[in-house]
Amino acid sequence: MSFSSDVKKELCAIECESDCCQRAEAYGLLYFGRAFGKHDISLLTDYDFVAERYKAAIRFLIQKEPECVLSKSGKTTISVENGDDRMDLLNELGYTGSETSLRILTSNIEYECCFGAFIRGAFLSCGIVTDPKKEYHLEFDVAFKNKSRDFSEIFEDFPASPKQSDRNGVNIVYFKDSEQIENILTVMGAQVSVLEFINEKIFKDVRNHVNRKVNCDNANIRKTCQAAAQHREAIEKLIQSGRFDELSPELKELARLRLDNPEMTLSELGANLTHPLSRSGVNHRLKKIMEIADKTSK
Ligand SMILES: [Zn+2]
Repeated sequence: MSFSSDVKKELCAIECESDCCQRAEAYGLLYFGRAFGKHDISLLTDYDFVAERYKAAIRFLIQKEPECVLSKSGKTTISVENGDDRMDLLNELGYTGSETSLRILTSNIEYECCFGAFIRGAFLSCGIVTDPKKEYHLEFDVAFKNKSRDFSEIFEDFPASPKQSDRNGVNIVYFKDSEQIENILTVMGAQVSVLEFINEKIFKDVRNHVNRKVNCDNANIRKTCQAAAQHREAIEKLIQSGRFDELSPELKELARLRLDNPEMTLSELGANLTHPLSRSGVNHRLKKIMEIADKTSK
């Protein structure tokens, strides 16, 4: 089972508390189905439980059982075969059937409580949410441009603003922000799924943090080694040219310590001197050694 199907399954188990919300969900289910108009009202779905919810929506609106056809691909197609039933459904939802384009009628999403129910219906019909293990993405595949535009406007007062794009002629209304996806899941009533989503996000954040820390440590080790190699080169040059003895006792001690301990950081070198020195003090002395070595080679 995918995360998307888990969410849909959870949503289909919700019992609608009031008629107004049941109507809003039914509207979302029908409006965003495969077709919604006087010539065709139908839904194509992968899931039996969504098919059942769609049938229940039609029953709720016109007290009739829709025809159910199982297509060859294994998907379920539910369609309202009778033209009079289709007209009844359209009329029930405030359409005359002669509209050239069926805009969203907010009269079917009457109260604040109905918003989530409407989004739930829409999601059951045309929504997909990607597993948060992979990426943060929730989308509604809307058949027509004007429908996707209307749908985006529905979110105006909601703390999530969708983006729109066109994929092979299908209008996509989508969300990429994890918090916005959490808000959508919450308002639809997917309480279990939203917790799963948040858990996965926390797990991902912690893992990223650890990875960043490890990468950072590796980078620091690399830097330490590179610097140590430069110091050793300079010190060996001084020894070979016979000028090592010209160094002051403090510089000599540090040079020997550096040669013997290439893995030590500057602070560690400083701590191991007879008279302990700060990191910047060590840095200063090493620079001096390298300057003297530099003059030697000229
Ligand atoms: Zn309501």
